[in-house]
Amino acid sequence: MRDAEGWFSVIGVDLDAEPGAHRAELTFSYADGRVRTQTEIIDVQSKEFPTTRLTVEPKYVELSEENEARAAREREEINAIYDELTAEAYWTEPFTVPIPGTTGGRNFGHRRIFNEQPRNPHSGADLKATNGTEIFAANRGRVVLAKNLFFSGNAVFIDHGLGVYTVYLHLSEILVEAGAMVERGELIGLAGATGRVTGPHLHWGVRVLDARVDPFSLIGLGE
Ligand SMILES: [Zn+2]
Repeated sequence: MRDAEGWFSVIGVDLDAEPGAHRAELTFSYADGRVRTQTEIIDVQSKEFPTTRLTVEPKYVELSEENEARAAREREEINAIYDELTAEAYWTEPFTVPIPGTTGGRNFGHRRIFNEQPRNPHSGADLKATNGTEIFAANRGRVVLAKNLFFSGNAVFIDHGLGVYTVYLHLSEILVEAGAMVERGELIGLAGATGRVTGPHLHWGVRVLDARVDPFSLIGLGE
């Protein structure tokens, strides 16, 4: 990205990254064909995320064979999406919050342990919404998935290019189709409580080069 002082790059640090020094190799490709690489050390600080331990009846956490198989298929499909790297940025403006006026979300990084079995940490932020709250694309990009998923319910995934993806889960309605380009702020769906959730909200997630980052960390970049 570029601002008044010059070019800068953004690297996502996954919520499970080990604290300490990480090497990042930057490659600069110039218009005249020269290529230069430079290694930077990034010092990852530790951060504690809350953990909740729950004991529940096994029937609430164990899936049927059929649902287990469906969830596994969908995981593969999603991983294949994140494995794709679109070499150009589709966006030209800063990212925005999908529910205008919302300043924060709950539960990013929250770990839940059901009957001593740790679940994947919560990889997005849950934004307050009611059934039917309008959800807008956080930035320009291509819709790469728009359908019902077992855990996530009605889901929209947007590829913004350069390895940046935003996801919008548990929608009551999906208003875009896979393959379509959407503009920043375009209506893409309505909030709901589809999938494995207890009440209506928007789960908003962001991936940056496969790192799960707090979606709100994108807000304000490039402004
Ligand atoms: Zn969530």
